[in-house]
Amino acid sequence: MSDYKLYIGSHVSMNSPEFYLGSVKEALSYDENTFMFYTGAPQNSYRKPLSELKIQEGRELIKQSGIDESKLIVHAPYIINGANKSREDLFDLSVKIISSEVARTAGFGAKTIVLHPGAHVSQGFEAGIASLAECLDAVLSNDKSDVKIALETMAGKGTEIGITFEQIRAIIDQCHYPERLGVCLDTCHISDAGYDIHDVDGILKEFDRVIGLDKLLVVHINDSKNPRGAHKDRHENIGYGFIGFDTIKKWVWHPLLDGIPKILETPYFNEKPPYKQEIKMLRDGHYIEGWRDKEF
Ligand code: FE
Ligand code: FE
Ligand code: ZN
Repeated sequence: MSDYKLYIGSHVSMNSPEFYLGSVKEALSYDENTFMFYTGAPQNSYRKPLSELKIQEGRELIKQSGIDESKLIVHAPYIINGANKSREDLFDLSVKIISSEVARTAGFGAKTIVLHPGAHVSQGFEAGIASLAECLDAVLSNDKSDVKIALETMAGKGTEIGITFEQIRAIIDQCHYPERLGVCLDTCHISDAGYDIHDVDGILKEFDRVIGLDKLLVVHINDSKNPRGAHKDRHENIGYGFIGFDTIKKWVWHPLLDGIPKILETPYFNEKPPYKQEIKMLRDGHYIEGWRDKEF
């Protein structure tokens, strides 16, 4: 493992008054060498102009620290749904928001934005996939940046699309800009979707066969509150869910995932961020039994 390049971080906040500078400081406080952020609130598309977000200050701190800017991840807001064309107004809004988010990603100097593929509502998977590909075409035909959109594998809550590797592959195939698309694999989501999360080799082999490992841009590292196939999408702290520390550790250190950023989105415990402790355990490869009840 000695030359394995582990890039590991968590989602961090971006709040007044330090904004992006504060995000970078937060990541450093957890000993992270990458991180993920939303360019505003995750739940809405209200966005402050980039000029107010202390981006230069944040990027300077990144340069002085151990963070590799090319490994940073932006996450698009949740409200977007490009997978349902039956509501033309919402579809057009999704195109608009994603376009703006891709441009903002470039404005931070980041290269990758994670996007939830969306929900087909009542249209069925095939129509949902076609709709999202059309949405992505509209976005990418007007974008000159080199930002890549990483489609996230989903848990299968409600009518979500992107819950199998085949569906993700179909979205990429139907888009006219496949070179601008990649994948974000979420360990909680694929377990909830029905994959046997403990069979890391088998899943990665399957991913490579169906999509191609060169498309894997980021891995979300989460334990799951629910068993395989539950379709719930509820993240759990590392070691406290149905996935467990040993399997998560395999995902973090798998040789095929060398250099691919790993991002934790586990919940706060007793109002405290767990990331410093979780990352330390994953780096060390050593689990501390009952860590949530100790000082962390
Ligand atoms: Fe996500
Ligand atoms: Fe995720
Ligand atoms: Zn999730």
